[in-house]
Amino acid sequence: MPTFVIAGASLAGAKAAETLRDEGFDGQIVLLGAEHERPYERPPLSKGYLLGNDELDSVYVHPADWYAEHDVDLRMGVTVTAIDRAVSAVIASDDSIFHYDKLLLTTGASPRRLSFPGSDRDEVLYLRTTGDSGRLRAAFQAGPRVVVAGAGWIGLETTAAARSYGCPVTVLEPQPGALHEQLGPELGAVFAGLHRSHGVEFRFGERAAEFRPGLVITSLGAEVPADILVVGIGAAPNDALAAAAGLETGNGVLTDAALRTTDENIFAAGDVANSFHPLLGRRVRVEHWANALNGGPAAARSMLGLPGEYDPVPYFYSDQYDLGMECAGLPSPGTYDQVAYRGDRAALEFIAFWLSRGTVVAGMNVNVWDVNDDIQSVIRSGREVDLSRLTDPDVPLLEV
Ligand SMILES: Cc1cc2nc3c(=O)[nH]c(=O)nc-3n(C[C@H](O)[C@H](O)[C@H](O)COP(=O)(O)OP(=O)(O)OC[C@H]3O[C@@H](n4cnc5c(N)ncnc54)[C@H](O)[C@@H]3O)c2cc1C
Repeated sequence: MPTFVIAGASLAGAKAAETLRDEGFDGQIVLLGAEHERPYERPPLSKGYLLGNDELDSVYVHPADWYAEHDVDLRMGVTVTAIDRAVSAVIASDDSIFHYDKLLLTTGASPRRLSFPGSDRDEVLYLRTTGDSGRLRAAFQAGPRVVVAGAGWIGLETTAAARSYGCPVTVLEPQPGALHEQLGPELGAVFAGLHRSHGVEFRFGERAAEFRPGLVITSLGAEVPADILVVGIGAAPNDALAAAAGLETGNGVLTDAALRTTDENIFAAGDVANSFHPLLGRRVRVEHWANALNGGPAAARSMLGLPGEYDPVPYFYSDQYDLGMECAGLPSPGTYDQVAYRGDRAALEFIAFWLSRGTVVAGMNVNVWDVNDDIQSVIRSGREVDLSRLTDPDVPLLEV
């Protein structure tokens, strides 16, 4: 009976196990996870759970008894330390050895860490795990002065949560604006404006350089009062295991469009995978929930030898204060030459479109719902659009 091993008891890993069983795989499935918890979803950790609105129970991918019921051998607190490709086996931190017929890497990503005087103090906090979120939630309840390093998604969602607890927040960001790498200056300014309207202070062009109790010292020498420093400066793929095993890596584990690595029996999905994307015509490593949710199942199908390429329009979402948004595509600076809008920007109810040479490459619906599938269809079509129709709310998106 074949054995499929999944390294990384994550959303992508758990969804891959589910798909293997749904597709009728009746071999052994071993799911190995470094954390001491069964697979869970991370988005609530910077939103509902952090805000105190959701209980921990709501974050898990499957109920606790699902794994036994589906004959999935879930081992928690077990880190894969090496892959021995010569004998098709993984070695785990508890010295156990698991032979595999197929191996899936869903080891995700880890927060980039700061290193400067005081950065190892307890008041310097990160956000990746349920434990991290619980610590932040407890800290925010005391109403501390908060400095956030990084105006990316994690930094800004954490900022919104801190403000909802009434904490004063200053955000330090070396880039010239919020979400600069993720959205470019136009939409970045919308998010900065949203936060300013909730009393947040931004210091762009500045980074945290030192933490002393009660104080963050910035790279420009400014002293910003701070009881805690929250670090949200991005994440790095957990690809060292793959690299040590001789798989090709480079900003993640390199895969083809079927999520197969340079070893035909080893696959990768989720945050750790840097995969060739047929629609975009290049490799992408996507650090978003939907990519773990759908990439795990896509990899599972490839492990079973089912044909197919994984080429969804990248999708992500965020909630901050009363603003909810969904974004399709990856609108980083350099990928577009124009931004167009439909709807009411002042009321924060609009759709933004990023265009390149007349075609829509990304679109974001802000407090406007049930349109993201249509936005994705427009992107996928790759056709030139009529700008006056694109920006006219009365024209159906599929007819622009
Ligand atoms: C706080 C937070 C909020 C987010 N909010 C959003 C959002 O609103 N919208 C959105 O689209 N995306 C969001 N994301 C991103 C999204 O959660 C990630 O893209 C997703 O979690 C990636 O899932 P994954 O399965 O690839 O891996 P991960 O979730 O990174 O999990 C990987 C797991 O593998 C384990 N592991 C690592 N190495 C080993 C090893 N050698 N052996 C065994 N186990 C190992 C890790 O401990 C971890 O448990 C958020 C992320 C965070 C942290």
